[in-house]
Amino acid sequence: MSNDDKTLESKDLESKHLENKHRERMAARKAVMDAKIAQAVEERGVLILLKGNGKGKSSSAFGTMLRSVGHGKRCAVIQFIKGRTETGEYKFFKDHPQVDWHVMGHGFTWETQDREQDIEAAKKAWALAEELLKDPTYDMLVFDEMSYMFKYGYLDVEPVVVALEHRPLAQNVIITGRTMALPLQEVADTISVVQDERHAFRLGVKAQPGIEY
Ligand code: ATP
Ligand code: MG
Repeated sequence: MSNDDKTLESKDLESKHLENKHRERMAARKAVMDAKIAQAVEERGVLILLKGNGKGKSSSAFGTMLRSVGHGKRCAVIQFIKGRTETGEYKFFKDHPQVDWHVMGHGFTWETQDREQDIEAAKKAWALAEELLKDPTYDMLVFDEMSYMFKYGYLDVEPVVVALEHRPLAQNVIITGRTMALPLQEVADTISVVQDERHAFRLGVKAQPGIEY
C-alpha cells in the first residue's frame, strides 16, 4: 500500500468516526426532545408577552397572527397607541374576513399631551378588550402597545390580569410594549425580550414604509 493510499484510508476512518459521533449526539438530542414533547400534553391558549427596547415586537405579534389566520382562525387586534401613519399590517388586514382591527379612537398618540383624553381612550379600548376576552369565537387577540397603559397609569393592571385569567381556554393573547407590568409577567406563558443592539435610526436612516410601519 502506498503512502497516498494510507493517507486516504486514515481520512476515511476519521470521517466515519466523525459521522458516528454526530449520529450518536443527534440520537441523544432526539431522545431528550422526544421526552420533552411527551411531557407537553396540555392543550390550551397561551399568553405571550413581547417586550424590550429592540425592533421586532409588533411585527412578531402580527406575524404570529398571520400564522393563525393561515389556519383559518379568527383574530382581533387592538392598537392601544395610534401611530401617525397607517401601517402596512393595518392596510393588509383591515378588510380581512378573519381579522377585526381596532385602532384606539382619536386618543393616545405620541403627539397628544392631553392626559384626560388619553385616559378616556384607554378605558374605551380596555372595555372593548374585555368583551373580546369573553368571546370564545376569537382564537387570537393582539393587544399592541398595551403595556404603556399601565406604565402611564391610564389603566389598572389588576382587572386586566383577572380578565386574562378568565378568558376562554383555547384563546391566545399577545401583548406588546417595551416595558411590561410585573403582574402580567407573572401570569404569562411565554415572554420574549427583543433586545436593542443596533438600530438603523441611530445610523441616520429615515423610517420607511414596509420596515418601520
Ligand atoms: P416593529 O413594529 O418594527 O416590530 P416594535 O414593535 O418592536 O417594532 P416599538 O417600540 O413599538 O417597536 O416601536 C415602533 C417603531 O419604532 C418602529 O417603527 C420601529 O422600527 C421603531 N423602533 C423600534 N425599536 C427602536 C429603536 N431601538 N430605536 C429606534 N427606533 C426603534
Ligand atoms: Mg410596537
